[in-house]
Amino acid sequence: MRNVLDKTEVEPLFNVFTWVLQSFEQGGWLKRYKFLEGQYLIALDGKNYFSSSKIHCSQCNHRTDQNGKTNYFHSVILPVIVSPDQSEVISLAPEFITPQDGHEKQDCEVAGAKRWIDLHK
Ligand SMILES: [Zn+2]
Repeated sequence: MRNVLDKTEVEPLFNVFTWVLQSFEQGGWLKRYKFLEGQYLIALDGKNYFSSSKIHCSQCNHRTDQNGKTNYFHSVILPVIVSPDQSEVISLAPEFITPQDGHEKQDCEVAGAKRWIDLHK
C-alpha cells in the first residue's frame, strides 16, 4: 500500500475539501457557521503526523536535542471552520509544513499558516 500511496500527489485530493464546502454552502448548512457580522471563523492548528529518529526523507523537518539526537518529523496545518454555536467543525484543505524552495531555514507552523492564508484568503 505504501508503494502506491507514497508516489501519489496529494494536492489533487484537496478538491474533496472544496467539493464538501460547496456542498455545505449549496445545501444551506454553511450559513450556520456565520459569526460576527456574517464572517466565518477559521482555526489553524499544527499537528505532527510522523516522527522518527531513524527514518527520514528530503521532506522532513528535524530537531536536534541537547544530547545531539536528531528527531525527524512531518507536520501539517489543519484549518477548520468553527462556530461557538456548532459542535462540529468543517475541515478545509491542509497545508503541509515541508522545506520550501529558496528557503534556507526549516519550514514552521507560522510560515505554513501564512501560506495557507495567502492561498485561501
Ligand atoms: Zn520525511
